[in-house]
Amino acid sequence: MKAFLKMWKDPVWSKVISTGVIAGIGILITYLSVVFPTFLNFIKSIWAWLFQITDIAHWLLILISIPCVLVCCVIFLWLKSLLATEHSFQSYISDNFFGLKWRWFYNNEIEISDDDVHCFCPRCDHQLVPQDVSCYKVYPQFRYDCPDCGYSVGTISGNYKQLRHKVILKVQKNIRTGEWQNA
Ligand SMILES: [Zn+2]
Repeated sequence: MKAFLKMWKDPVWSKVISTGVIAGIGILITYLSVVFPTFLNFIKSIWAWLFQITDIAHWLLILISIPCVLVCCVIFLWLKSLLATEHSFQSYISDNFFGLKWRWFYNNEIEISDDDVHCFCPRCDHQLVPQDVSCYKVYPQFRYDCPDCGYSVGTISGNYKQLRHKVILKVQKNIRTGEWQNA
């Protein structure tokens, strides 16, 4: 774009470009003047066909066929959505692991990062905030209690980041094996 602007500022190039644009417009007008009457005749012949009468008027035939076309469109869209759902793992964005419900997002339509994984209560769907109940730093332990319905999965070894990473590995495995379609 910058190169084009530079050329446009140049007096010689600007003349060449403007001459080219004018010539292009001239060709387009000539082309349309040839094509337009043909197009007009085509429309006229369609119009004439619509009002021809055989046993039944063509316009009535079209009117009758509209519901059929609509039904075909609905069936086509339904099949398209069905195929899209069946063949795209990107619709797989939730599953239950380790007694918890998990949701995630895909970056660039394929990758999942730890920060894109969140856990929820499998009973009431409230988002859970893990509580650090580790006695020793070297042996992290977290609780995942639901503040809304009281559901608890108990204590899980490892920190939240590690657990989310395990979830990602399970998701990737399910995508590879096709198991995600049963989720
Ligand atoms: Zn709950």
